[in-house]
Amino acid sequence: MSSENILIEKLKHTLRDYPDFPKKGILFKDVLTILKNPELFSELIKEISNYEIVRNSEAIVAIDARGFIFGSALSLFLKKPLILARKPGKLPGELISNTYDLEYGSNTLCLQKDSLEGFNKFCIIDDLLATGGTAAAVEDLILNQSKTVTGLVVVVELQDLEGRRKFKSPVNSVIKF
Ligand code: AMP
Repeated sequence: MSSENILIEKLKHTLRDYPDFPKKGILFKDVLTILKNPELFSELIKEISNYEIVRNSEAIVAIDARGFIFGSALSLFLKKPLILARKPGKLPGELISNTYDLEYGSNTLCLQKDSLEGFNKFCIIDDLLATGGTAAAVEDLILNQSKTVTGLVVVVELQDLEGRRKFKSPVNSVIKF
């Protein structure tokens, strides 16, 4: 087995499933279990750091809130700047925002208007890709500022929900279900 496949198997065994959370019918994939194993967390960040989407970017945009964990580790590992896309009421200053539908409910994400200044190519990172609304909303925020998105990186992709079809740029996921 390749080292990549060994890592994927280890991660799959580490994740925990919570049926009917936060709503009935949703199988919640808890990625936070990875953080209890720093060796595995470190291997995961190293793996993601090799993705072309990440290599080709000048800065990382991480999505509220679990995306922050993986985004900040990647930022430190690669010494690439980190920008946070946050829920309403969290960021000060002039904001740009986008509202979208979720697998459960709807949501709005914001960026500080000047946060993208000085860079042109951004990769987006989140813990999980479900219906794709979240990542696509952040992609649109960046594209609307006439910037480039090198792609989206997620730890987990729920393929049946076809979230990557909503995303205009390339998508790379570590674990696919
Ligand atoms: P979506 O916009 O449908 O792709 O949803 C992605 C966002 O919602 C991510 O930020 C995830 O953290 C969260 N999310 C959606 N579905 C799940 C799920 N089944 N398990 C864990 N997190 C989820």
